[in-house]
Amino acid sequence: GAVIGILGGGQLGRMLSVAAARLGYRSHIFEPGANPPAGHVADAVTTASYDDETALRAFADAVDVITYEFENIPTSALDLLESMRPIYPGREALRVSQDRMIEKTYLSELGLQVAPFAAVETADELSKAIDQIGVPGILKTRRFGYDGKGQARIMQAPDAETALADMQGAPAILEGFVNFSAEISVIAARSQDGQVSAFDPGENVHEGGILRTTTVPANVPARLRSDAVLIAAKILNALDYVGVMGVELFVTAQGLVVNEIAPRVHNSGHWTQNGCVVDQFEQHIRAVVGWPLGDGARHADVVMENLIGSDLERVSELASSGDCALHLYGKAEAKAGRKMGHVNRIKKS
Ligand code: ATP
Ligand code: MG
Ligand code: MG
Repeated sequence: GAVIGILGGGQLGRMLSVAAARLGYRSHIFEPGANPPAGHVADAVTTASYDDETALRAFADAVDVITYEFENIPTSALDLLESMRPIYPGREALRVSQDRMIEKTYLSELGLQVAPFAAVETADELSKAIDQIGVPGILKTRRFGYDGKGQARIMQAPDAETALADMQGAPAILEGFVNFSAEISVIAARSQDGQVSAFDPGENVHEGGILRTTTVPANVPARLRSDAVLIAAKILNALDYVGVMGVELFVTAQGLVVNEIAPRVHNSGHWTQNGCVVDQFEQHIRAVVGWPLGDGARHADVVMENLIGSDLERVSELASSGDCALHLYGKAEAKAGRKMGHVNRIKKS
């Protein structure tokens, strides 16, 4: 069978490898870090940095198509890989999602609601942005943030100085604080011939900036759930997207506000592994290799809970509960804040 190259060897790469194998494909992981979780299940692993041109070339030579599990791939590596093999999702999705300023501008130009925002690099720009947007707000680095890292809340104008210091000189964006009643996300897929399929929106609860649980069905009115799916489809079509995307949304009295998009399989889509006939990982592999998409209909109510750090100690208790599907990532060290696995608790619907 053909070989799928996957940039990034974390748990998302691991679950993509498993899905690829189930469809009869082999997978080859490219990952700078030693002993990556995906390495235990993939058919091949290249351990090299993204500026090692020889390694990148050999990797591209060894695969038929390239995808990725994270969006912060250096541009120079992408240029080289793209000259040798197709990469899905494409460059436009990466350009837009790698920088929160470009992302918010793009989404608002599509006619979607986003938090009020302004670019900030200096104390002077921050004070102007606070005058314009008001408090409370959140200052975020434009690039490289995840799990709430690289963010500082500004409750009052005097918090500005420490917030800016937290950015450590990186270009930032000030966002007005969105007064949401719930957070939801849509995991949607688009195939190479433009077919779009979305999973049911899930309701997300974060703790300390990290996703804690996703619950389906989301406890929001049906009208908003279909709005969320339409918003996701609009973004996928605008980007001429191929693959699975996660779209995070805030539910507000003024309707849905888009928080951010992730051009990849998404933590809040893990419930699909046990709630759908075709899950987000299979859906992504199907799109990347040019298959038709599967049916994403939901056949159960699910609560997905992340197992973070010492939560791993609960595994034996969870394993003895008949309604829990466990997904463990095989990571050696259960450091605080590290995602070690997740559990899908099923209620038949
Ligand atoms: P992820 O791990 O999902 O990529 P991230 O580090 O990119 O997270 P965001 O999704 O931007 O960060 O923010 C993390 C969480 O902080 C959001 O899910 C939400 O709970 C809260 N948050 C972020 N921006 C805002 C905002 N403008 N108004 C209110 N809450 C916000
Ligand atoms: Mg993010
Ligand atoms: Mg987020």
